[in-house]
Amino acid sequence: MKASPADQAHLLELADLDARIRHADNARRNPAQTARVPELVAERQAQSAELTGLLGVRDDARAELARIESDVTVVDARSARDAERLATSTNAKDAQGLEHEIASLAKRKSDLEDAELVIMEQLESADAAIAAQEAVIARTNEEGARLSAEGKAAVADATARFDAATRDRAAVAASVPAELLALYDRLAARGVGAGALVRRTCEGCRMVLSGTDLQVLRSAHDDDVVMCPECGCILVRTDDSGL
Ligand SMILES: [Zn+2]
Repeated sequence: MKASPADQAHLLELADLDARIRHADNARRNPAQTARVPELVAERQAQSAELTGLLGVRDDARAELARIESDVTVVDARSARDAERLATSTNAKDAQGLEHEIASLAKRKSDLEDAELVIMEQLESADAAIAAQEAVIARTNEEGARLSAEGKAAVADATARFDAATRDRAAVAASVPAELLALYDRLAARGVGAGALVRRTCEGCRMVLSGTDLQVLRSAHDDDVVMCPECGCILVRTDDSGL
């Protein structure tokens, strides 16, 4: 096949645009941020389960505290009633019994207050653990929101690059003779369609061509369309081909 060196040079532009289109297409379909999303969802679930456990611990502590406070109320009422009865008692034996009960109620109340202090400390640490876990979840949510925004921006950027390269490709392709374009497209469909020959290296496959292959290229006319003997792409000769 024959094609002018200028038309052949257009194939390098096409190859470059096709690489950009592939790259942008891949970037818009699989933004890097999406890889982290399933991990983040799993982390968020584990963190929520942990929070549920901590809230349960706090609920238990609150219920226990309420039970103790109610016991204290009962003890106080009983103690007050006993004190009243003691004040009006005329029977020494009854008085002794009441005094004894008042003393055990006082001991019971002191025990309940000790238990109350323990529970209040537990409540305090449960509150702190819940606040810490809520902060962890807030950070995970922030990361999710940030990734989502970055992912959307990356997709928008890649889509813009894809559209621009696709428009540029159409313009370049329109200037290439149909037969040459068809050959290029056929080759590009299975790999690299065209590569420059720079310093005896095919830029399509990065192979340095042998002396024999270079000898064949030297004997070709400028308007001969030649192929890389290594990868089969259209080899576009340049001023820096080393021929
Ligand atoms: Zn090659």
